[in-house]
Amino acid sequence: MHDSSSDSQPESIHAPNVCIRCLKHLSSTQGHTLPVKSTTTPETSAVIKCTACSLIHIPMLKRSTITCLIVGTLLTLLNQGDVIISGLLTSALIWKIPLTYFVPFGVSTISALLNTRR
Ligand SMILES: [Zn+2]
Repeated sequence: MHDSSSDSQPESIHAPNVCIRCLKHLSSTQGHTLPVKSTTTPETSAVIKCTACSLIHIPMLKRSTITCLIVGTLLTLLNQGDVIISGLLTSALIWKIPLTYFVPFGVSTISALLNTRR
């Protein structure tokens, strides 16, 4: 009987050792297998990209941005909410707000890249 463990992996990888964006040749352990939803069918396929090209993979950036907006807003409200509401937000605290949004963006992006390593 054929092992069906590969059924959970998206199919349609035509050139598994080439980055689909920059055409860089990759070893069998380099790069990332990134899911891509079809625009015409409900199916999901996968593409191989090098790490540099994976960093600008639009679906991953969309997910990281959504995570950043939700978690960053919650963390900002938790950490700076009282100061913001009281109107006492100083320039010494303003720099913390973009960093508070950047942390979940970075964690989400790094997690996605680690989970899609080949
Ligand atoms: Zn590439």
